[in-house]
Amino acid sequence: MNTDLGQHVLKNPGIADAIVNKADLKQSDVVLEVGPGTGNLTVRILEKAKKCIAVEMDPRMAAEITKRVQGKPEQKRLDVILGDVMKTDLPYFDVCISNTPYQISSPLTFKLLATSPAPRVCILMFQREFAMRLVAKPGDKLYSRLSVNTQMWAKVDHIMKVGKNNFKPPPDVESNVVRLVPKHPRPQISYDEWDGLLRICFVRKNKTLRASFFGTASVMEMLDSNYRTFCAQNDIVLDDGPAESGTDVMEVEEDAFEEDDGLMDVDDGDDLPDFFKEEGDRRKK
Ligand code: SAM
Repeated sequence: MNTDLGQHVLKNPGIADAIVNKADLKQSDVVLEVGPGTGNLTVRILEKAKKCIAVEMDPRMAAEITKRVQGKPEQKRLDVILGDVMKTDLPYFDVCISNTPYQISSPLTFKLLATSPAPRVCILMFQREFAMRLVAKPGDKLYSRLSVNTQMWAKVDHIMKVGKNNFKPPPDVESNVVRLVPKHPRPQISYDEWDGLLRICFVRKNKTLRASFFGTASVMEMLDSNYRTFCAQNDIVLDDGPAESGTDVMEVEEDAFEEDDGLMDVDDGDDLPDFFKEEGDRRKK
């Protein structure tokens, strides 16, 4: 097993059943599975859905799952795509089920949430801390930019805890399964402006919003400059002189707003905006 690729295979059949059951699959569903590994979830998905598209980065694993269905009726209903899911143009799918490779938790989450048309539901296993950040509510210790961003685009529920001994080899961390139901229609906001706002709100741990906005000269200067740009673009005359041009609304200097919450095992979605910037329907039926 290549643990650099997050290869911790689920060995408890009860948990594999429960994960697939939580998706409430219909017989007409096309299911995307990210990282099928040896296929413990895949064979269960194929029992309930029309088709499974499995994206696997490791050629040995891709060969193993292909062999597992060879000569069986479900062979025709399994498409194995060999490659990195982050670099793959995803075909149409209704539902995503994955025991995810934990090193891509954040970009994968947002790739799924940015997919258009949005999947009906995603059932995803993550490292426990990452999962708890996805579901965290205001006031919780783990409430972060990741929580607000995810909950902006989807309804997120915690489904079950999975101890490390349910995997072979056992990982160093505990796991949890969450359900993401993308909001429909997707909120009509500019991702850049929204994420820029969140970067200011979560600029430092234990800092009030008031302090984040008004206690930092660079934030005030940026807000002032953005407001002037907005006024210039919308023909609004300011009393105190002409508006300056050349600053994008809500442009945030990356290194000025580094979030430090002590949870360095998982990233916090700094690479999210790219997915939301992509326009148009990237998915073909
Ligand atoms: N689904 C299997 C199970 O539950 O037993 C295996 C899950 S294992 C945690 C993660 C799988 O994702 C591995 O098979 C690994 O090779 C694959 N993987 C890792 N990074 C990937 C990526 N970027 N794109 C696609 N697959 C990836």
